[in-house]
Amino acid sequence: MSDNAARPAPRRAGPEDPSVSPTEFRHPLPRLTKRVFTDLAIWMSGLGLAMGVAFPFFVVALGVPAEYVLTPRFFVATIGAGLMVGVTNQFLSRAVVRSRLQFMRAKMSNVELTLRRASLIENADECTPERCSIPVDSEDEIGAAATSFNRLVEALAASHRQTGSARRFATTLSSHIEISPLVEAALADLAAAGGYTASALCIVRDGELVTLASNGVDHPSELAGTALVEQSYRTLDTVAIDLPDDVRLDGGFVAFRPRSVVAYPLHIRLVPVGVVLFASTEPTTDEAQQLIEQLLPNFAVALNNALAHERLQQVAAIDPLTGLYNRRFGLERLSQEFSRTIRSQEPLGVVLFDIDHFKAVNDTYGHDAGDRVLKAVADGVKGVLREGDTLMRYGGEEFLAVLPGAGEDDVRNLGERIRRVVESIAVAEGAAEIRVTISLGAASFPSVDVTDMEDLIRQSDAAMYNAKNAGRNRLALAGR
Ligand code: GH3
Ligand code: MG
Ligand code: MG
Repeated sequence: MSDNAARPAPRRAGPEDPSVSPTEFRHPLPRLTKRVFTDLAIWMSGLGLAMGVAFPFFVVALGVPAEYVLTPRFFVATIGAGLMVGVTNQFLSRAVVRSRLQFMRAKMSNVELTLRRASLIENADECTPERCSIPVDSEDEIGAAATSFNRLVEALAASHRQTGSARRFATTLSSHIEISPLVEAALADLAAAGGYTASALCIVRDGELVTLASNGVDHPSELAGTALVEQSYRTLDTVAIDLPDDVRLDGGFVAFRPRSVVAYPLHIRLVPVGVVLFASTEPTTDEAQQLIEQLLPNFAVALNNALAHERLQQVAAIDPLTGLYNRRFGLERLSQEFSRTIRSQEPLGVVLFDIDHFKAVNDTYGHDAGDRVLKAVADGVKGVLREGDTLMRYGGEEFLAVLPGAGEDDVRNLGERIRRVVESIAVAEGAAEIRVTISLGAASFPSVDVTDMEDLIRQSDAAMYNAKNAGRNRLALAGR
């Protein structure tokens, strides 16, 4: 992926600098009443009255003889005319300005209702530009007020969308504890919230960034090594790339042609957990980015919990020495297989085996060497089992293989292969080589007639006892 265009994602700029102070209003003329239009009417009438009084003197100054104009009749006429102009102006201002303001107010009420309904049904998308904005059709302060109102509504709707997304996301996070469903659902929610088309999650496993899940990505495994992901992981910053039409990503890691790719760091109190990557067919928006950044801290915590849960389950299920299922979890698997067998009428085979004279190995070479032999036996036997078979450490140096679908012939053949592979294992101990053999007891249901899983194990145990008694390093079939 080309990373030369990578840059820390832009922060949202502060509010515009208004030319008028938004904090205090200075009246150019004194307020007379509580109503702007009444004030206007008084000022206009007053102006008309003053004009009417001043007009005769103005006429005298122009040279008209005073005896014609400085008469009560002429004064009445000019004052009347001045007042008429004042009153007419009032009607004009009402017709031009007040009606426009009334229309705006009605529109605003509608928008308010739509917004309230949208928040009630938790769907801010109800608030479309057609429904949630008022017309801006005056290139002056009235138009500017309409624009400001529309922006305010946009901001409110965005805030509603964010709250809704956050609530849905919280529900998603709290309804999953297993890692896969959690990540799948969270990525889907986040992509929907940010309007992204493809998504991926890279996390740190054994000190290395690996891709844990992805959606709509062509080469997920290559994502973790990209400069974009590494930069975000290292700097704990959101890193966004906007791709103009004439720029292509080198790797083409998504199935479509992205216009933007954004990597968000996941961390818990600045300890990195991973990176979430999104790609979109549209350029990134600050709104989407802010929303995702708000949601991610909770995701980081939920992800960390799920990872801890997974580790705990592993600790509870896996025998640390051999890496096999321990007895408790292995038997749970066997129990599930037994129920399935009863339903499907398919056979189910088990092979129980125990290392011969293992005490002597410990006595001769020490406990650590004995441990290495146990591990080597586990690894060797795992290699001959088929997919779907389960091997568990049943006891100290005793193992149980669960073989779904294995009939009597299969358990005999597989048991024999297990015996031979163990026989061939040589564990180096200084100059010496430790070799061991095993005795095996095999049983297959329904060839041996048992009622439950414990009975099946008992039968294979009895067969193994026979194999021991018959001289060890051999397989005995149950029921024979
Ligand atoms: P047999 O052929 O009859 O099975 O003889 P055995 O010596 O294998 O039988 P026994 O049950 O007397 O001895 C089992 C030994 O396995 C005893 C125990 O110390 C050893 N053992 C059990 N678990 C472990 C382990 O985790 N590590 C090591 N090194 N030894 C173990
Ligand atoms: Mg033994
Ligand atoms: Mg034993």
